[in-house]
Order: sequence, then C-alpha cells, then structure tokens
Amino acid sequence: MNKKITVLPGDGIGPEIVNEAIKVLNKVADKYGHSFDYKYVDIGGCSIDKFGVPITDEGMEKCKNSDSVLLGAVGGPKWDNVDPSVRPEKALLAVRKELGLFANLRPTKLFPQLADASPLKQEIVGGGIDLLIVRELTGGVYFGSRKTEEVNGEMVATDIMPYSESEIERIGRVGFETAMKRGKKLASVDKANVLDTSRLWRKTMHKLSEEYPEVEYSDILVDNTAMQLIKNPTQFDVLVTENMFGDILSDEASMLTGSIGMMPSASLSSGTLGMYEPIHGSAPDIAGMNIANPLGTILSAAMMLRYSFDMSAEADAIEAAVNKVLDDGYRTGDIMQDGCNKVTCSEMGDLVAERI
Ligand code: NAD
Repeated sequence: MNKKITVLPGDGIGPEIVNEAIKVLNKVADKYGHSFDYKYVDIGGCSIDKFGVPITDEGMEKCKNSDSVLLGAVGGPKWDNVDPSVRPEKALLAVRKELGLFANLRPTKLFPQLADASPLKQEIVGGGIDLLIVRELTGGVYFGSRKTEEVNGEMVATDIMPYSESEIERIGRVGFETAMKRGKKLASVDKANVLDTSRLWRKTMHKLSEEYPEVEYSDILVDNTAMQLIKNPTQFDVLVTENMFGDILSDEASMLTGSIGMMPSASLSSGTLGMYEPIHGSAPDIAGMNIANPLGTILSAAMMLRYSFDMSAEADAIEAAVNKVLDDGYRTGDIMQDGCNKVTCSEMGDLVAERI
C-alpha cells in the first residue's frame, strides 16, 4: 500500500521523537512492502516564528489531503506570552476542527516491565492496567462561546458548554464500537446530577446502548471516576466522556503508568483520516538533548497503522518490538530502572526498528 502521511514535528522534543517514529515506520514499510510518502509541515511555535501563525493555510491543506497525520508536540516558554489568538495550541484545536477529529482515543496500559514505575501499590495494579479513554474532542466548553465582561463593578467570565444529541451519539458510538473490539465493557462518564449537557448525554447513551446488548454498559459520575481510577483502575475497560472531563481524566489515567513518555493517542474522524501523537507536551526542559523517550510517538505510529490504514499485523509488529526492547532491558532516562541499559532517544528508535 502507498500512504501519504503529513508529519508535524512541532517544537521542543517534537522533531526528535517524530524522527524515531519515522525510522520505525520506514522499517515497517520495507518489511511489509508498503511505501509511506511524508510531507513535513511546521506547526506551533516554529510556525509562529516563520510565518506569524501556528499553522499556515497551506499546511492545513496538506493535512487534509493526506491519509493520516503524525504529530510530535507544540509549545514552549518562548511562545507563552504571544497573542492568545496565535498561541501554538491554537493550531492543534484548528487541525482537530478542520479534519473533523471528534474522537480522541487514549489507551492507558501499564507495561509489566515498568510496573514499578506506577505510583500505585502493586496490589492495586498487580492485575495490570489496560483501559482506554474515548474523549469527545470537538465540542463542549472548549469550543463553546466565551466572554469576560464587567458586571456590577467586577469582572465576570463565562464559558458555554454546548452538546447536541448528534455529537453525543457520534462519540458514544465510537465508545461502543471500541468496547466491542476489546473487553465489551463501557462506562459513560458524566455529571448528570448537575449539568444539563450531562443529562442529555446520559439519555442519548442509554438509547444507544440498546443497539449494543453485548456491551456491559454503566453510567458513572466524573468525580467518582477520578476516585475509582486511583482506587480500582483494573475495573475499567473503555470509558467514554465529553471533552473537558476526558482531558482531565486521561491525564490522570496516564500517570497510573508512571511514564508520560510511553503513552500514545489517536484522534479520529468519521472517515479513515486521523491524527496520531504522544500524550505528552514538547518537554522544553530536555529538548535537543537526545534523551526524550520516543516510545509514545512510536506507539502512536502503531495506532495510525491500525486505525487509519487497517494494517493490524504491522501495528502488532511495532507493539511487539516495543515490548521486546523493554524485555531486553533498554530504557530511556524517564523510565530507567536498576540493572537496565540507559539509551538515548535515537538509540531507542534504532532498537525498536531492529526488532520489527
Ligand atoms: P510536558 O509533557 O512537555 O513535560 C512534562 C514533564 O515530562 C517534563 O519534565 C518533561 O521533560 C517530561 N517528558 C515529557 N515527555 C517526555 C518524553 N517523551 N520523554 C521524557 N520525558 C518527557 O508538559 P509541560 O512541561 O507542561 O509542557 C511543555 C510545553 O508543551 C508547554 O508549552 C505546553 O503547552 C505544551 N504541551 C503541548 C502538548 C501537545 O502538543 N499536544 C500537550 C501538552 C503540553
């Protein structure tokens, strides 16, 4: 197969980790007889420096006209004080919206080799954590209208959190379909005891659940979910939730594994086009030092093969290679353990590629 991939390395460690994912993708292409055609586009701070905007219209077109998008990370202290309308993160919201990426999939997997890295006790994570958060990505309070105005002599800020039935049904369906491919268990997270959006969410999800009798469905309040993720994370298979709850819960869940550098993510549209990126940021504190962990980006590339290109065997090969590298005792600094071999970012990429 021939696939066009738009590559958005971004800022900080972005270019370093993306290089390693491309190295692994090239090895997959060689081994399985595919060809991947990469088009590079500036995004975030580096694009602000060159063009005055976090992504150009031309760059956005390239994303739209590709089969898939691979992103490193954007942002850094250099751009913290730029005009809010052109902040690096604006580019991410714009790409999500333009490409119709309404579903964000964040697997949280505790690799047994790294169980010590989890901040939770062994008796809690012993059974292994393997859950997936499906987060709505283009609606809710991040996209509703907002204003700050003076009322009765003081400033008042308002953010609107809108959700329509069709938006809820669309993401709910991704939740159910994903659960069908995994452990057939879905928890829908809301705040239906307070919010109207959540009451509509719950009603819509219940209706949808009738189409998926095989899936063990439950509702759970977001505050309880935050607690249960720490108390008993192994009870969960797939969680589906709205944009802001998903943002917060997926960061919490990722920390259960103790290693932000290991975690991939996928943002999907209703077609096959998707954007794939590690969950961490641009890590300016270690940028340019060749010590970042590229495994989250490499595993994001595996998700790209699985979800956008329907290449399951190839995705399995990447995940198996990552497992093998960990089994063989290689670690970047962030996941270093006694008795293991410490490797650089580029060495880690080489080691994974060798094992494809
Ligand atoms: P961060 O995720 O960049 O870094 C948090 C900590 O984790 C740092 O100590 C960093 O060194 C470490 N870390 C992160 N990724 C790592 C990796 N692959 N290997 C080893 N260590 C790693 O979060 P932050 O410091 O809050 O944010 C830095 C910048 O990134 C900010 O400008 C922020 O806005 C941006 N950001 C971007 C994205 C994105 O592009 N999707 C996401 C989050 C934050």
